[in-house]
Formats: sequence, structure tokens, C-alpha cells
Amino acid sequence: MSEKIHIDCCPICGGRNLHQALTAIDHLKTQESFEVWTCDDCGFKLTQDVPDEKEIGKYYESPDYISHTDTEQGLMNKLYHVARNMMLTAKAGHVTRATGLRQGWLLDIGSGTGYFAHLMTEWGWTVRAIERSAEARQFAQQHFGLKSDDVEAFNTLQDKSFDCITLWHVLEHLQQLNIMGDKFYRWLKDEGALLIAVPNHLSTDARHYGAEWAAWDVPRHLWHFTPDTMKRFAEKHGFKIIKIIPMPLDGFYVSMLSEQYMKHKMSFLRGFWNGLKAWVSAWFHKERSSSLIYVLKKQ
Ligand SMILES: [Zn+2]
Repeated sequence: MSEKIHIDCCPICGGRNLHQALTAIDHLKTQESFEVWTCDDCGFKLTQDVPDEKEIGKYYESPDYISHTDTEQGLMNKLYHVARNMMLTAKAGHVTRATGLRQGWLLDIGSGTGYFAHLMTEWGWTVRAIERSAEARQFAQQHFGLKSDDVEAFNTLQDKSFDCITLWHVLEHLQQLNIMGDKFYRWLKDEGALLIAVPNHLSTDARHYGAEWAAWDVPRHLWHFTPDTMKRFAEKHGFKIIKIIPMPLDGFYVSMLSEQYMKHKMSFLRGFWNGLKAWVSAWFHKERSSSLIYVLKKQ
């Protein structure tokens, strides 16, 4: 029997007034339903009764996607590559601006297939990359000669040894949310920057799609942040948010994926249109962007 993790105490504020907010479906793998709950005391949302660490692996995508990422045939793949390169360069720029350093020590948690970590090494940074998936680590090694380590490597990291720690759409997957929050503080130098990108369920696209919003991504996404709950998480672990940066391109991707999951006709066009509306809205209100990058520094 698989074990489910039932949470009755809010990991952000410690409150015990949690109730069901919506039910979302795992469209990616199993079509199973999972409940998203809200904390009445602080507004934090979490996925309830998720499979434990031994069971969650089967909900993650098979490594098929890795082989697709390198073809450049077809318009969609070309667009994807252009968008990815834009995003990678933008992320690298955020690291140098947030730290005020052209080069330094970077810890990239959940480094995946290694594109970002590789770019940062090209920019002259010394990168420690940590990734749970063996297939993704192997890809990074073969394509970039990038050595990434499994999560046991967390135990070998020295205090105050990094100028920057990055989690690009990773924090929402980490079961040990608060233990990791404390570790980020320990590993980071006093002047260092912690960059966390996560989906934003107060975004225009999230409000449009409701329970069908693809970025609920249950049960893989355990935690669902907003600017307010990220501020609480930051302060709980000795950080303050010094900047919030919108990731408006994510709105296109998430909207198209939501349309696909809803099996709408012309899902590409409808998703593009809703992504465009979300993008325009994020121009005027960055806190309505589909995903946000939070730049944190020590208090
Ligand atoms: Zn709470």
C-alpha cells in the first residue's frame, strides 16, 4: 500500500485551520485526482495527501522528454529553442544583477538536464549542480560534460560557501520545505542571493483556468505560493524579498497546456490567446504573472 502524507499543520504559519479549496487532476501521468487545501490563517495552499517519497517517483514524467529537447525540426521546436535560450540568458542576468558579481560560486538545486548550470559555467561561475534524476544527470554529463550530483551531496555542502543559490521551478517539488529553507540560509554567504522561481496561483492565467490550471501540476507540486506566502516563507528562514521578477513567457506555456488538458479544439490558438492576455496583464501588474522569480537576501 502506498503511504499518503496528510498535512494538518500549515508549514508556513503553523496554523491548523486547513480546508479543501479545489480538486485538481494529474493530467500528466495518472489522471488521479488530488485536493489542494488552503490555510485559513495565512492563505498558503498545498497539495493534500500526496504519495510519500518512495511512491512519488512514478508520478514524474519518464525521461522521454530529454531526447526531444535537442531536435530543432518543426516550428514548435524552433520556437521552443528560441524561448529557452531567451529564458536561460535572462536567468543568468538575474544571477549577476542579484549578486552584483560577474563570477562566483553558484549552487543550482534541481539542475535537470543542466542547461542553466552549463551556461553559468560558460559565464565563468563555479557551479555545483544537484539533481535527483539519474537520467537527467547523465544527459548533463554527456551533452555538456557537466558533473551534477544526486541529493545526498546536500550533506557535503559547506556553510556560507555560495554567492548564489538558484531553484528554477524546484521549491514546489521539495517535500522537506522548511528543512531546506534553513539549509539555504546556512549554505549562502552573508551577502549572497537566493533566487526562487515558482508558479503563482494568483496569476491571470491561474484565475482564468481555476482548477484546470496546468501549473497546479498535482501531485508533483506540493506547495503553491503567492507573493504574500513567499514573503512569509522568506522571513521564517531569515530572508527578505528584495525583488520580484515576472516570468511572463510561462503564461503562454501554461495556458496552452491547460487547453490541451481540457481537450479543447484549437488548444494551441486558445492557449496562445489566453497566454497573450496574461502577458499583457503582467506588464501592468507583475504580481499577476504566471510564474515569479523571488530574489531573496539575508535579513
Ligand atoms: Zn498558514
